[in-house]
Amino acid sequence: MSRLFFFFRRKPRRAPVTPEVERLRAQAKAELPARLAELAAQHGFVYNKVFIKNSLTRWGSCSSLGNINLNLRVVTLPPELQDLIMLHELCHLKYLNHGPEFHALLESVCPGHRALARQLREYRIV
Ligand SMILES: [Zn+2]
Repeated sequence: MSRLFFFFRRKPRRAPVTPEVERLRAQAKAELPARLAELAAQHGFVYNKVFIKNSLTRWGSCSSLGNINLNLRVVTLPPELQDLIMLHELCHLKYLNHGPEFHALLESVCPGHRALARQLREYRIV
């Protein structure tokens, strides 16, 4: 990786750890990995590991190593938006971008995903 890459790369900010964050983290760990595994099996995605993160800036992310990160606050969202986020990250296992093929794949596993994404924009992470 180039120096330039590191220079421009911003680490996602982490929120302070409060009792509420710990409560949500426990709930997220109990619920999200199981649902992610279910969705992956249902649609034929294979990921490496899943991590629950305390990020202030992202609902989820997917690494080139096939690891999926989910924000612990995903558990506070309606179920269809939780699924949208997980399916979005699962589709990044095949396309690490937001190009037309990515959106076609996401639409095939999550019909109406653009309307759901508009709903998601009404929720703030914190
Ligand atoms: Zn994405």
